[in-house]
Amino acid sequence: MELMRNFIGNEWTEGSSRIRNINPSDTNDVIGLYASADAAATNTAIEAAAAASFSWSRSTPEVRSDILDKIGTEILARREELGTLLSREEGKILSEGIGEVVRAGRVFKFFAGEAVRLNGERVRSVRPGVDIDVVREPEGVIGLITPWNFPIAIPAWKIAPALAYGNCVVFKPAEMVPGSAWALSEIISRSGLPDGVFNLVMGPGSKVGQALVDHPKVRAISFTGSVPTGSRIGLACFQSGKKVQMEMGGKNPLVVLNDADLDLAINTAVNGAFFSTGQRCTASSRLIVEDGIHDRFVEGVVAKLSKLRVGHALDKASEIGPVVSESQFEQDLDYVRLGKEEGARLAFGGERLNREHPGYYMSPALFVETSNDMRINREEIFGPVATVIRARNYDDALEIANDTQFGLSSGICTTSLKYAEDFKHKSAAGMVMVNLPTAGVDYHVPFGGRKGSSYGPREQGAYAREFYTSVKTAYTLA
Ligand code: NDP
Repeated sequence: MELMRNFIGNEWTEGSSRIRNINPSDTNDVIGLYASADAAATNTAIEAAAAASFSWSRSTPEVRSDILDKIGTEILARREELGTLLSREEGKILSEGIGEVVRAGRVFKFFAGEAVRLNGERVRSVRPGVDIDVVREPEGVIGLITPWNFPIAIPAWKIAPALAYGNCVVFKPAEMVPGSAWALSEIISRSGLPDGVFNLVMGPGSKVGQALVDHPKVRAISFTGSVPTGSRIGLACFQSGKKVQMEMGGKNPLVVLNDADLDLAINTAVNGAFFSTGQRCTASSRLIVEDGIHDRFVEGVVAKLSKLRVGHALDKASEIGPVVSESQFEQDLDYVRLGKEEGARLAFGGERLNREHPGYYMSPALFVETSNDMRINREEIFGPVATVIRARNYDDALEIANDTQFGLSSGICTTSLKYAEDFKHKSAAGMVMVNLPTAGVDYHVPFGGRKGSSYGPREQGAYAREFYTSVKTAYTLA
């Protein structure tokens, strides 16, 4: 089997060990063998990026725009092939895999436009004869650390703005899903970027990720992943004076009011909680339902779950793919056990399923009669597990929705303009949805959360420039 190598200083290099990429829909299927880098190789990549940094920072916006556009065009043209690879390694169903690839392509196209739109300001000084220029400059070398659940979209929405604004990149994808990251990097390697501007280092977070965080020539770290890892990285960046942006977990509430359109609410909840196997930071994991609609809602969700087909990600009939790995599967099953111990009632699912191929198949789990202080409602599970919490009225539902350490996304199903507007104002989340699932966002607007979910400037859309550029204020006495 061919070894897929790391891309360091414009060379494809072997690592010190190997990563085996396993298909969670069929664990007998080895997708590929990938080189695993160590700290020394990561340092070489950082030095290559640092050497390329000045010259790339002076490249014209048009050069950057053309390169990003070319990358986006190739990604979109290869959507079926790349989507198949993504679904094979991560386990989301094929339509979701292709959808994610399209999103990645669109992100590159968007930032191709942003590269030429970046502008500054000229301001008159309060002192006579003095003019002031406020301009944005690249940060320099940026370390990008990504999780496994969106193996091409998250890398895209970090790499594209980093390059668009003139930074050099050292990219460390999650070890569990090197395939999409490698394919994306291979496309980028042929896009016309000067040597060293873009580097791929696959390997464990404890070595490769840590080397990025530790190196003094890395000026900024953009991280997406879990809260414990993010907290450690954030602290280390603070101590070494690096700029840092962190997108982490969620425990996103979806409020369903008595006046909601019942079918819409059921579909919104099932989509938000269980599509992509519930492995989305924006998944609707707490369904907070007003008393008057509670029983009909639960009955409808259970009926829908009982018909959902869990199966091989590449089988066109599948509606939910497998969980990504054995360890994630064990964690999901542990939470199902915990929910029962805490006194919640399992209304559906939560079991290991056997399919034609050996894989991590789990029936979507719905807990009812839960309270917001249970651990299944406090901690991010990150699998196909959702809970229902009964609320007395709108105010009660709003209070429960905001009573969490997280604040990524939230939603409400209602036909009342009054409650929809009130919820948009009072929800303590970075993204709020009305009659839409908490997951599923656009690429041209800011993405991010509040409280324990996020730290630093927003990602995506034009807001991405806040992280990927540094502001300079220049004074001139004419
Ligand atoms: P992890 O925090 O385990 O890993 C994220 C990345 O950090 C991986 O590339 C990992 O490497 C790396 N890493 C691990 N240890 C270190 C370290 N010491 N120094 C530097 N890097 C390190 O998260 P998961 O991959 O399990 O992803 C799931 C999490 O991501 C969930 O909590 C989810 O909510 C969150 N997420 C948040 C999103 C958001 O936008 N808010 C979007 C998507 C997911 P490796 O695994 O290869 O060892």
